[in-house]
Amino acid sequence: MIVDKKNDATGVLLRNGHIVLPDKTYVGDLRIRDGVIAETGQLEPEEGERTLDCSGCYVLPGGIETHTHLQLESMGTVTADDFETGTRAALYGGTTTVLDFATQFHGESMAEGLARWHKKAENNCYIDYGFHMALTEWNADLKSEMASIVEGGISSFKIYMAYKNNMMLQEDEIYDALSETKRLGATVGFHCENGLLIDVLVKEAKARGNTSPWYHQWTRPPVFEEEAITRLETVNALLHADHYVVHLSTADGLDAILKARSSGIDVIAETCPQYLLLDNTRYGTEMSEDFEAAKYIMSPPLRDKSHQEPLWDGLACGDIQFVGTDHCS
Ligand SMILES: [Zn+2]
Repeated sequence: MIVDKKNDATGVLLRNGHIVLPDKTYVGDLRIRDGVIAETGQLEPEEGERTLDCSGCYVLPGGIETHTHLQLESMGTVTADDFETGTRAALYGGTTTVLDFATQFHGESMAEGLARWHKKAENNCYIDYGFHMALTEWNADLKSEMASIVEGGISSFKIYMAYKNNMMLQEDEIYDALSETKRLGATVGFHCENGLLIDVLVKEAKARGNTSPWYHQWTRPPVFEEEAITRLETVNALLHADHYVVHLSTADGLDAILKARSSGIDVIAETCPQYLLLDNTRYGTEMSEDFEAAKYIMSPPLRDKSHQEPLWDGLACGDIQFVGTDHCS
């Protein structure tokens, strides 16, 4: 169990750090009193105040991680990081809030899924946390339950357009779900890939014995992301409901988002460090026997390097609004 946050009654003075403010960065001091920033500038220690030498360090607001799957049961296994280890790692990197995907599994209500996630996280986190609510199926009961989930403080849902027979929802269901979230003032994040065609290509690859990590990327090509985003925005053109695209991985997908925006649809987008920094050379070659490449299996997969620059540019100019890790290992 993790002990409650310590309140330093006498305050803390961070000295000689690179203080990062919205409009400038300068070397100076920052005083914390009663858990909030009391003042910044060139400050002298006060009586009884704890001081920390921050020379050579940046003093930044804590990061907010928008996308984790801590301790997620999936396909017969469970992700390695739980709320204790995952939030500890996050804190080491300067992240002070995580938003994890509480997940409703088949046959469950969202309340049951959410209760399980609260149990995993309670007294087990080093930092603040919140939840999105991920759906793995769609029916009238789940639709009527959305209002109480929103009333309970969760304003963001997640829908998968991939993982056929496991989590995938199709356009009629997406339309129905978005109609309800719009009525409730909630938002929905979408995993955008063409799940039906992925299923076809995965079956083909297996039948041919093409099961090495290298083949993973060929079962989920960039056009499947672009197509799914276009399909999603076709639904949204009818509704104009609040929504966003999670883990955008391709220049093609970004183009589809920009096209939707230019037609008046308000869609925002998240990308991930892996799509900005890594590329599909990590999967080795077709003939490669090296199973090390399995470490880079993720969905969507790593892409050709040519996708990176448009994603960086998209972040720089505000076409992509935020970065989350999709930490799921
Ligand atoms: Zn995810």
